[in-house]
Amino acid sequence: MSAVETRRVVAIIPAAGSGERLGAGVPKALAPLAGEPILVHAVRSLVADPRIGLVVLATPDGLEESMAELAAPHAGTAPVVAVAGGATRAESVARALAVVPDDFEVVLVHDAARCLVPVQVVGAVIDAVLGGADAVVPGAPVVDTIREVVESGASHTLDRSALRAVQTPQGFPLAVLRRAHAGGDAEATDDAGMVEALGLPVVLVPGHMRAFKVTTAQDLVLAEAILAEEAGR
Ligand code: C5P
Repeated sequence: MSAVETRRVVAIIPAAGSGERLGAGVPKALAPLAGEPILVHAVRSLVADPRIGLVVLATPDGLEESMAELAAPHAGTAPVVAVAGGATRAESVARALAVVPDDFEVVLVHDAARCLVPVQVVGAVIDAVLGGADAVVPGAPVVDTIREVVESGASHTLDRSALRAVQTPQGFPLAVLRRAHAGGDAEATDDAGMVEALGLPVVLVPGHMRAFKVTTAQDLVLAEAILAEEAGR
């Protein structure tokens, strides 16, 4: 494989969230996890797949330069660029997408908060997009019984075996994600939902427990425990 063939993938990391639910007093991507910011773990986890040739961060306004400098030493040979994020996650992704050169074939969108995603998940998403899928998401089995609330105030249980909790990275051909964002489906809660609004199918690949999203202080404790357990092996 030539160098061009092996580095066809750009990774967008929306990291502009305030992280209020985490209560760390800093933007979530900068909260420390095992002595390093969450963002550093996220970048390292992604570039473990050598096909990633560029990392684009969407950061809180004013932190573009400092967060790019923080991430760069952990991105292997992939350059890191950063843009100011927007008021919503979708806007942050759109702003990052705007600076991606057209010669990339595949784009991954990965929440900084899913900082421990295993490389097998990253690789499976890239493989499925290169295999022809328009949208790929990792999905994990749902452990809780889920009830759907209906308008009347009643509720009913959904068939858990058919449900998947959606994780990231989500992967797309670059042209497809650009089209989805140009459509700007305001209802979509993630990028795959925006592609789905174009009438395109979304393919699932197996997710992983380690791709959980660090949202609360309790999640941080779990992430620390996972890393400590690995370090002790
Ligand atoms: O808030 P939540 O955890 O759902 O955010 C998911 C990801 O989107 C996080 O990595 C967060 O930093 C990012 N985000 C963003 N711009 C926003 C809001 C969230 O980049 N305006």
